[in-house]
Amino acid sequence: MTEKIKMRTPLVEMDGDEMTRVIWQQIKDILLTPYIDLKTEYYDLGLKHRDATDDKVTAEAAHAIEKYGVGVKCATITPNADRVKEYNLKQMWKSPNGTIRAVLDGTVFRKPILVKGITPLVPTWKKPITVARHAYGDIYKNVEMPAPAGSKAELVVTDAAGNEKRTTIHDFSSAGIVQGVHNLDPSIANFARSCFQYALDVKEDIWFSAKDTISKIYDHRFKDIFNEIFHKEYEEKFKQAGITFFYTLIDDAVARVIRSEGGFIWACKNYDGDVMSDLIATAFGSLAMMTSVLVSPKGVYEYEAAHGTVQRHYYRYLKGEKTSTNPIATLFAWTGALKKRGELDHTPELSQFAEKLEYATIQTVESGTMTGDLTRITTLTETNLVDTETFLTAVRSRMNEI
Ligand code: NAP
Ligand code: MG
Repeated sequence: MTEKIKMRTPLVEMDGDEMTRVIWQQIKDILLTPYIDLKTEYYDLGLKHRDATDDKVTAEAAHAIEKYGVGVKCATITPNADRVKEYNLKQMWKSPNGTIRAVLDGTVFRKPILVKGITPLVPTWKKPITVARHAYGDIYKNVEMPAPAGSKAELVVTDAAGNEKRTTIHDFSSAGIVQGVHNLDPSIANFARSCFQYALDVKEDIWFSAKDTISKIYDHRFKDIFNEIFHKEYEEKFKQAGITFFYTLIDDAVARVIRSEGGFIWACKNYDGDVMSDLIATAFGSLAMMTSVLVSPKGVYEYEAAHGTVQRHYYRYLKGEKTSTNPIATLFAWTGALKKRGELDHTPELSQFAEKLEYATIQTVESGTMTGDLTRITTLTETNLVDTETFLTAVRSRMNEI
């Protein structure tokens, strides 16, 4: 056995829940610790431990990511009423991802993993399309009301000195509805910087789309902030990297995305990003093949799978069944984090190991060995449907051959 790869700085490791927690341990045992002297600062974000620590562990983990620069997170349960009963929780704790995002103030980039034999539904797509979603404001922080017939709705902004600006939204001759949304310049600026930073990291063009022709103040503000930051801080760096930034209307963007061959980043406002990332994920084949990275404007990175804890599989696992849950997105969260750690620490052997592991994973699927979610959609005619552990072991054998 050759010597294990050393790490300089620990990764912030955030464990999670259910099936993905099981897979988390398997990935470490089968594919990581045999090869790497794995250095992590471990935070247990499993629901039981979040409850036991009054969810303090989540904020601590987020601060550790700020300190060390790179984190890797397992999928976690966001409690609802059923979960409060199931786990006998002290309260309905907030979404861990929301808590972490609130600390790091980042943008989430979702990118599909492409393999031969899992063909995108859009035939022109040859390379991945990454969706960057702004994670603050708009309808997610809205206030809304029903408006009865005969009522008048107004928009009023009162400044710090008490001066009012008001405008009529609508005089309601019939009953209707009204909604108020907002956003913040610093949040939009952070979104723009995270996008430009990520584009430079991966050396891909970035598109930003909104609807400034209709929303002449609100969406226009997004467009202006993106342009201003780009020209002041990034134009020169983009030129050197050979990449471009361009703004277009959301409807034009949709048409271009469908006709494109992929290979770029699409930055979207909060709601557009919510909808478009699901559309892109589905059109590329499988949620289990979607990675996700949170990039903060300060250049701090958190990697995870885009899917959840795969609860239905977990209940089958608890009954003693072997499940064929796809571990690829979770594995790629680890390799993404290890690559970034290697890059920041100047330990190329760590990054090379992560790349080799990704390569072996893709080769394994392309040779026909895959989990059930992929056998259902693959165009390969000869496939070998395996359970999760067998898949990970097959990746290991293949890696040992490379
Ligand atoms: P989910 O875990 O993403 O799973 C939904 C369905 O998608 C599964 O039942 C399975 O379909 C399929 N699927 C997802 N990932 C798969 C994989 N790796 N391999 C094979 N199939 C996969 O979503 P959910 O069941 O709605 O949510 C479960 C829990 O996850 C919830 O408590 C939610 O709060 C949490 N969640 C966490 C995150 C996060 O931490 N980032 C994100 C989303 C949801 P079949 O059953 O048909 O095989
Ligand atoms: Mg959604």
